[in-house]
Amino acid sequence: MKTETIAAIATGMSNSGIGIVRISGDQAFEVIDRIYRNKKGQAGTLWDAKSHTAHYGYIYDGDERIDEVLVLIMRGPNSYTAEDTVEIDCHGGIRMVQRILETVLHNGARTAQPGEFTKRAFLNGRLDLAQAEAVAELIHASNDYALKSSVSQLGGSVSGKIRALRGTILYETAFIESALDDPEHISLEGYGDRLLKVLEPVTEEIEKLIASADDGRVMTEGVRTVILGKPNAGKSSLMNVLLGEERAIVTDIAGTTRDTLEEHINLQGISLHVVDTAGIRDTEDVVEKIGVNRAMKAAKGADLIIYVADGSRPLDESDREIMELIHDKKAIVLLNKTDLELTVDKEALEEQCGHRVIPISAKEEHGIGDLEKEIQSMFYHGEIAFNDQVYITNARHKEALEAALRSLRMVRSSVLDGMPEDFYSIDLADAYEQLGLILGEAVDDDVVNEIFSKFCMGK
Ligand code: GDP
Repeated sequence: MKTETIAAIATGMSNSGIGIVRISGDQAFEVIDRIYRNKKGQAGTLWDAKSHTAHYGYIYDGDERIDEVLVLIMRGPNSYTAEDTVEIDCHGGIRMVQRILETVLHNGARTAQPGEFTKRAFLNGRLDLAQAEAVAELIHASNDYALKSSVSQLGGSVSGKIRALRGTILYETAFIESALDDPEHISLEGYGDRLLKVLEPVTEEIEKLIASADDGRVMTEGVRTVILGKPNAGKSSLMNVLLGEERAIVTDIAGTTRDTLEEHINLQGISLHVVDTAGIRDTEDVVEKIGVNRAMKAAKGADLIIYVADGSRPLDESDREIMELIHDKKAIVLLNKTDLELTVDKEALEEQCGHRVIPISAKEEHGIGDLEKEIQSMFYHGEIAFNDQVYITNARHKEALEAALRSLRMVRSSVLDGMPEDFYSIDLADAYEQLGLILGEAVDDDVVNEIFSKFCMGK
């Protein structure tokens, strides 16, 4: 089948050292031969160039020499798209890269849609859909964890697990079908119990993957962090220290942090998505009340709560409320204002709130390193769990896993209810199909188009 030849700028749209224009499709080598001349000035030299070779020369638009370039030749199927592919490395000024793309487009290629190169890799079977989605996640990764996870998914970590699960399910479906077709030779005697045993680890694995989605989200979007503490405990000051600049408003008047304020903090590879909230206390002030309610709500959805206790004042009812709220949550407790005379005892506070307490002084910037270390260790030692486990980072995958799980649970109830075997195979087939959606099997074109439309140009 003939494919249209597509082209796009693959590098960012800012002036930089090198820019890359990528061409893919049946005519890729013809297009480049029309516009490339080697250093001896000869045209038409690349059509039979060996795959994976680099060629130094010039791009010409007619007789006008546009730039000095390096051209990479990759022959399908050994290329990103699995098609014949050419990459032109040129000088990276925006206008230069655009000029080269225009020349390519005037000579037989058309502009690629966003994500079209990766879509071709998917349609040509070089990547499954989960891997293609990992490419987009990789490009958008904003921290080390997101990067690591997308690289592993691109390598097939999620796909591999899904394929294994599908393999087991398919085997059982086929077994039931054959037994129903040939009851004389294949017996289904006691099969229900056997099936339950086989499905148990499958279900467990799916449940584990679904559960990993929360960590996966933390990994890609950052840790949703909420800072709690009564007014004047030093929440804004802490934020400022973490941000390294005076962003939140610090004042001496109780309750000035009225609304919520969101900031992204990058702590050596971990992103904290911090919501700085109004102090928690009983108040008649309506505006402040909105803030307080929001704080409570935010704390409920948080991955991590940082509770700032004011060490210079005795603990009060607000502190007790906060301690109650964070009791069974992932939380770090800071005993602030250690530069002043402390009225709160660290050990007593530790006992009361059930979490480790880190003494700090937001004002003098003491103890901040300990806080950072604690957050780091919560990640590295698995409290918010990061290791070689496979994480689901994509909502579409999670949905498909949940649907597959529902189908497998139906199989289980059919077995327990003593239903006939063909009931099992319907739901098994359903689970198989749901898992297939993750890999891109039998996915609607609309869904595929939607996924690739979110890619950058030139990818
Ligand atoms: P928030 O209401 O919890 O956001 O508290 P702020 O960060 O606005 O701080 C309230 C007051 O406490 C300000 O005057 C800060 O300068 C002061 N403050 C905050 N942290 C410390 C600290 O570690 N030591 C001392 N001495 N004062 C602090």
